[in-house]
Order: sequence, then structure tokens, then C-alpha cells
Amino acid sequence: HKEQKFMSEKQAVAGQLAAGIAHEIRNPMTAIKGFLQLMMRDYKGKKASYFEIIKSEIERIELILRELMVLAKPNKISYKNVNLDSLLEQILTLMRSQALLNDIEIEAAYCFKDTSIFGDENQLKQVFINYIKNAIEAMTDGGKILIEGEFLSENQVIIRIVDQGPGIPAEILERISEPFFTTKEQGTGLGMPVSYQIIKEHKGDMLISSSSTGTSVEVVLPRES
Ligand code: ADP
Ligand code: MG
Repeated sequence: HKEQKFMSEKQAVAGQLAAGIAHEIRNPMTAIKGFLQLMMRDYKGKKASYFEIIKSEIERIELILRELMVLAKPNKISYKNVNLDSLLEQILTLMRSQALLNDIEIEAAYCFKDTSIFGDENQLKQVFINYIKNAIEAMTDGGKILIEGEFLSENQVIIRIVDQGPGIPAEILERISEPFFTTKEQGTGLGMPVSYQIIKEHKGDMLISSSSTGTSVEVVLPRES
């Protein structure tokens, strides 16, 4: 088993800078996309596929900007009590269809009845979606993802996302918290750093253990007090 410490102060500052820039780029991007769509509506010529390419590249930029903006210091996020069972239920509903398309079953083994976390619901969702997405993307031959959860103590919960993928080699694990580090052709390399940042803001922690039979991502979060 290999374990990984996460994100230095320097990386956090770089992340916030990137988030600020992302914010500035987003509005002009929205205008560009809007006018492109208007042009696409009217254009009937031979080069229509060029427009499709431009549009899909704009959408990729938008995805990167969205992920980067999460690295910004929280200002618009709203903390409230979030019921853990229903949060995880929503996430599973969202992810199960994507999993099934890849021959993957997601099994839930937790019971957090009446347990809440004090946090931002959308950000917390984003964290688990990122980890489950990574698990799905790692399991190219299908299999099972296990979502386990239990109480670590009176006031802490732990949630594990356990996949049956090929595991994470040491040289990749070393760099996994770097923004933009990805091994995927369509990856952004932002899932891990963004998720970790959110967990830290929620006063939680995260630990990865990985072997050749799979990866387990453990998320520890404080209960609402
Ligand atoms: P992305 O998914 O866009 O590549 P992430 O930050 O989410 O970016 O992940 C960074 C890299 O970490 C991935 O490209 C992949 O190599 C590795 N990784 C993350 N989670 C897993 C996992 N569950 N199994 C194997 N590799 C993983
Ligand atoms: Mg990812």
C-alpha cells in the first residue's frame, strides 16, 4: 500500500490564482459560444463540421474553467446541515447510469441515517462525483465500485470509494495532487486537487491507498455539531 500527502501551500496559492483567471475568462467564453451558436443556426454551408469542432473545444474550455473556479476562495458557497444518506443517494443516482454504460455496478454499504455534515451540498457532491468518475474511468473492464461508510468516532465519518481498477503506480501517485496532472487523453487533471481543496475547507481529510488490485479513496469529514 502506498499513501499520499496532499497539496502544498504553494500549490494552493497557484490554484487560487488559476481560479481568478478562470473567472475572468468565463464571461468572454460565454459570449463567444453564444454567437457561435447563432452562426451555426443560420449557416447551411459545407463547413458545418468546423463549427461543431469549435463548439466542442469551447465546451472543453468551459469544463476546465468550471473545475478551476472551485479552487477559488469560497465566497458564494453556503454552509448548512447536509444529510449524508440523501447526499450519497443523489450522487449514486447520478453516477449509476454512467457506471452501467461501462459495465460497472456501484454497491452502497453505509447507513448514515440522521447524520448530517455541515457543509456546502454542491461542493460535497462534486467531491464524490470526482472520485467515482475516476473509479469508473480506471475500470475499463467493468466490475464493482464499493461505497462504504461508517463512523470513525463520535464526530467524524469516513466514506470510502473502493474500485477494482489497475491501481495507481507510485510515480503517478506522487503527482496526483498537481493541478492539470492527468494520464487521460480527455482528462483535465483537476478532479483530485479540486476535491482535496473542498475537503480541506470542510475540515476533513483524504487518503488514497492503492495496489495492483484497485484503489481506495478515503474521505473523512466532521459531523455537524
Ligand atoms: P483526470 O481524471 O482529469 O485525469 P484527476 O485529478 O481526477 O484528473 O486524476 C488525476 C490522475 O490520477 C488520473 O489521470 C489518473 O491517472 C489518476 N487516478 C485518479 N484516480 C484514480 C483511480 N481510482 N484509479 C487509477 N488512477 C486514478
Ligand atoms: Mg478525474
